[in-house]
Amino acid sequence: MFTFQGAKYINLYSLFTLKNVLLILNFDLKKDLLNKISKNFALNLINWYSDNKRSLPWRETKNPYKIWLSEIILQQTQIKQGLPYYLKFNKIFPNIESLASSDEEYVLKNWEGLGYYSRARNLHKAAKVVVDNFEGKFPTEYKELINLPGIGDYSASAISSFSSNEIRPVLDGNVYRLISRIFQVESVINSSKAVKVFKGILEKLISKENPGDFNQAIMDYGSLICKPKNPNCLKCIFKKDCLSFNFKTISKFPVKKNNLYKKSRTFNYLVVIDSSNKIVINKRSGKDIWHNLYEFPMIETKKINKNDIIKHLASKYSISNNFITPQFDMTQNHKLSHQNLTINYWILSLDYDLNHAIEIKKINDYPFPKPLHSFISTLDRFLK
Ligand code: SF4
Repeated sequence: MFTFQGAKYINLYSLFTLKNVLLILNFDLKKDLLNKISKNFALNLINWYSDNKRSLPWRETKNPYKIWLSEIILQQTQIKQGLPYYLKFNKIFPNIESLASSDEEYVLKNWEGLGYYSRARNLHKAAKVVVDNFEGKFPTEYKELINLPGIGDYSASAISSFSSNEIRPVLDGNVYRLISRIFQVESVINSSKAVKVFKGILEKLISKENPGDFNQAIMDYGSLICKPKNPNCLKCIFKKDCLSFNFKTISKFPVKKNNLYKKSRTFNYLVVIDSSNKIVINKRSGKDIWHNLYEFPMIETKKINKNDIIKHLASKYSISNNFITPQFDMTQNHKLSHQNLTINYWILSLDYDLNHAIEIKKINDYPFPKPLHSFISTLDRFLK
């Protein structure tokens, strides 16, 4: 009995110390690697960038207003989708004054289809702050940028480094992936602990002479070479040092927390069209998605329930239940970052005129969320 317990104790003790030794070795390995790699990392990366960089309009300027426009448009958006919006915004709002003096609704209308509409609202608010508090001169320092609406650590680092070469490393998904693979960083990305760890590594690696190009280069490298799936390791200039390539652990990095709860919601839109081809629309208000965009009268239900829809219509338009026969038209499934939407459209054709409706042919003057926009493009079929 005594021997067994002793053996167990010795085994547990051995395991404990072995784990610690491995942790210490691992830590030393990473520290040594960081010291070794930091000597030439920035130089190699910037050389790779000058040979491979994608030619994009916001990379040809140091104008902080234009850089800011591109950064806000490209958040959560691929370059291919964002580029036409960047060109359009540059044309319509060539300077901060033109953006600040326009209506929010006009900004939202031009943002239509790009999603994450709080970016457009903050873009407009920030333009007003710059005109009011900075005499229209767009700031280039991190500490001023970080206080503008819609600008967080990533954007403030990007804009300050691109426009005035401030030494501020950027941390986006591409950078997390590349650094976590090279150094086998086990912190869960996007946690506050991870930000500290990754920033610590990047501060050692970033070029002190050319931080702007370094930041562009590291994001491009993550997106073109160290891709989420099938990274191009054989062509990678860091493969000799990359820990996850050499220990065959690439698929384990970056470490992500997979617990994002997505709420499911069902929106029922009542597409009410009167006898002279007018349609009812409302402006969304309150703290919810699509704030200040337009939509049709809507009721949110757990599942499709025709009775609820009839009751809602009857009270809203003061018409007898007996005359209401909304026809189910179509369903869309639409995914947002934190919500899954089921959107049902119900058509109600009235044989009289409404005075609080707009002409269908004018509907495109109003900003609508993306899924509704695609439904609107089919409205011609209801014209009488
Ligand atoms: S070797 Fe592969 S995993 Fe490592 S940095 Fe290069 S592309 Fe990424």
